[in-house]
Formats: sequence, C-alpha cells, structure tokens
Amino acid sequence: MKRKFLLYLLVLLSPAYQKAFSQQEKKAILPHEAIKTDTDAIFDKLISIRRDFHENPELAGNEIQTQEKIKKYLLDLGLEVQTNIYGHAVVGILKGGQKGKKIAWRADMDALPNDLPDPVDFKSKIKGIQHGCGHDIHMTIALGIAEVLAKNKKYLKGTVYFIFQPEEETFVGAKAMLDNGLLSKIQPDEIYGLHVTPLPVGQIMVKPNELFAYQKRVQIKLKDELTKDQAKELANKIHNALFRITANTKPWEVQNIADPKVGLVNPETDFKDYLIMDDKFSINSKNNELFLEAYLYETNSSNLNSIIPKIKDVIEANNFKNQLISVSFVQGNPTVLNDQKLTETVIKKLNAIYGKAFVAPDYGQAPFFNDDFAYFQQKIPGVYFFLGGSNIEKGIVAMNHAPNFSVDEACIKTGVKSFSSLILERANGN
Ligand SMILES: [Zn+2]
Ligand SMILES: [Zn+2]
Repeated sequence: MKRKFLLYLLVLLSPAYQKAFSQQEKKAILPHEAIKTDTDAIFDKLISIRRDFHENPELAGNEIQTQEKIKKYLLDLGLEVQTNIYGHAVVGILKGGQKGKKIAWRADMDALPNDLPDPVDFKSKIKGIQHGCGHDIHMTIALGIAEVLAKNKKYLKGTVYFIFQPEEETFVGAKAMLDNGLLSKIQPDEIYGLHVTPLPVGQIMVKPNELFAYQKRVQIKLKDELTKDQAKELANKIHNALFRITANTKPWEVQNIADPKVGLVNPETDFKDYLIMDDKFSINSKNNELFLEAYLYETNSSNLNSIIPKIKDVIEANNFKNQLISVSFVQGNPTVLNDQKLTETVIKKLNAIYGKAFVAPDYGQAPFFNDDFAYFQQKIPGVYFFLGGSNIEKGIVAMNHAPNFSVDEACIKTGVKSFSSLILERANGN
C-alpha cells in the first residue's frame, strides 16, 4: 500500500503529468476566460446599444428600426442574416470551424403600449411606447453573445442561430415564425432564451418544467335570465370554489417573487401550489346570453381538467342548471415548459464554469406572466432562464410592466458571459 501510494505521489508530482494536466485544464478554461475578457471589452458599447433601443421602442408588429439595427450589427460581425421569415424577425447564423451541434438563442424585440413613469435619463422618445418589459435588454444580450462568440469562433464547433423574434407581447411572433417555415431554414437541436425579472442583478434562476402558472381565461355562458345581483353572487361562489392557496401565502403579490423568504428562491415559497383568479368576473350580456369571464392561474397541470366540472357543479348547486349554456376556456396559450433533462444538464454546466451555486434553484411558479417562447419549446427542446435585473440598494426594481420598471445594466454582462459559455459548450457537444 505504502509503496503504491508513493508511486502514485511520484507520478502526480512528475513534471510531465503536471504539464499534461495543466494543458488539459487550460484548454477547458481558456474559451471561458476569453469570453469574460471579450464581454468586458464590449460592455460600454452594449450599454449604448441598449439605451438606443430604450429611447426608440417599437410596438409589436412595427419593429422596423429595431430590425434594421439588429441586421446591421449582425452583418458587421460577419454573420449570415435572414429577414424573410416573418414580420420584422431577424435570424443571424454563426458557423463554427468544425462540425458540432446547432444551438439557437432567442431574443424578443417589441415594446409596450405604455406611458408609465420611467426613472432613467434615456427615456423613450416615442409617446405612449416604452420598453417596460426589458426586451431592449434581451436584444442587447443576444447581440453581445453573437459578438463574443464571433470573436471566439476558433473555439466553436457547430452552428449558433440568433433568433430575434418580433411580437412577443401579443403572443404572435414565435408561432408565426414557426408557421412561416422557420424550421425549414434552420434546424436547431436546442433552443435557449431568457427574461429579465425583479430578482437581484446578476442572478440566474431556472427550474425544469413550468416556470409560470398556467393561465386560463374561463368563459361561462348562461341564458340571460339572472339578475345582476344573482350573476355577481354566482361569480363570487365560483371564485371561492376554485380559489386555492396554502395558508398565509399571497401568491398574487407577484412583486414578492424576488423576496428571500416568500419568493421563488425559497423552498417554502408562496408561489408553489395555488389557483388564483381575478377578483371580479367580467359580466356582460349579448343577444339574450350572459357571459361571465375571468382569468385564472393554476400551478398544477393535472388540476386543469377538473376546473370546468367544478364550475358546473357550483352552477347546479345554485339552481341555474337550466340557464347554463356552456363553460369553456377561451384562451389556450401554451406555457413555457423547460425540458427536464436539458435543464438539469445546463444547470450543471453553468455551475461548473461559473461556480457551484451560480444558478439559483427556483421552487415556484410566477403568476400573471408567460412567454410565447413556449411555441419554440413545443418543437425544439429548450430552456428559458430568469435573469435578475433589480438592485435594491440603487433603487432599481425590474418589475416587468410596472411603473418605474428599471434594470441594472450590469445584468447584460452576466447574461452575455454565462450564455456565451453555455452556447459554446452545448454547440461543442459538452
Ligand atoms: Zn411583457
Ligand atoms: Zn417580456
């Protein structure tokens, strides 16, 4: 035993072994060191691009200047660029030197029809339109990744597709790109994307499967024979029959998703197991029919099938069976669904490169939000990440769609570095 150990020690200490080991280690670390350095080098440029996007926002379906800027940037990097897919979409194609996998990165392009207070100096120059969801940050990160990977092409095998998708807020763009033959032009093996969130700046968070609660709009159609008060009372009873929360949790307070105690990062999060819905149904009558409608948010997919029967039970129990015409879901958007195996793989990969606890685990599902990235995931295994953009000490709160939504631009650096590394590793088959 002792001798063997001594021999082992001698081998370990031998200059030849050490040289071989350090070369191997260097080879693994080198591209990521280059990625970090190159990201730092273009950071100021990325900030000015982001601010230009922020000052010149464009609504879904009208991303004309945005498309031009992206196209020019990608062409200047030497990428092949396609703009003939759908609307103002842009696809940039970066080919590595050798054969490898085909990896897609998606960024959304559109702004919001808002005039909410915006605390930055580089406010929107266009009245009634602003980047209040952070898509200016998403586009900037995607351009940053494209530039960093283009500079490090010598390390890249395979192909990277940069999908700039229009019309996300209207839930139209992703599906329209697919319907218009996106996958006949490019065939990604995997697809990734992210969204800026109120989590602390630089934090990356992800979980397998659902990131959001399932959003459904319920429509109850009755004969128009109920009084206003009867309809209101029935709506309240349906609400109470469906509503489900764990005691003392408030999953509708979505601003708490970044809270260390009740937010997504805590295994005891408020956002784990619930069905919440609009406080009030909209009640309208038309052509002798009465319509009761409300949005609801359910975390557990296996509960979805029992919602409509439950509503029918309440209607019967309240003696309106003869008035009932139908109960249905009138909005059927798919929800973001992260591929389980791929998510587990990429968490390990990112943590191996950037530190053990680099990716924060996510224990809940946020209500009220969703992303049409879900349509890409129906065709291509994919993972959608949350990227923190808040900096409470600086008074920056990245609560999407909320007044004073603001993003700490340092998250651009985090996004570009980590996802350049991830895409490189995945394209190279690691
Ligand atoms: Zn949005
Ligand atoms: Zn968004």
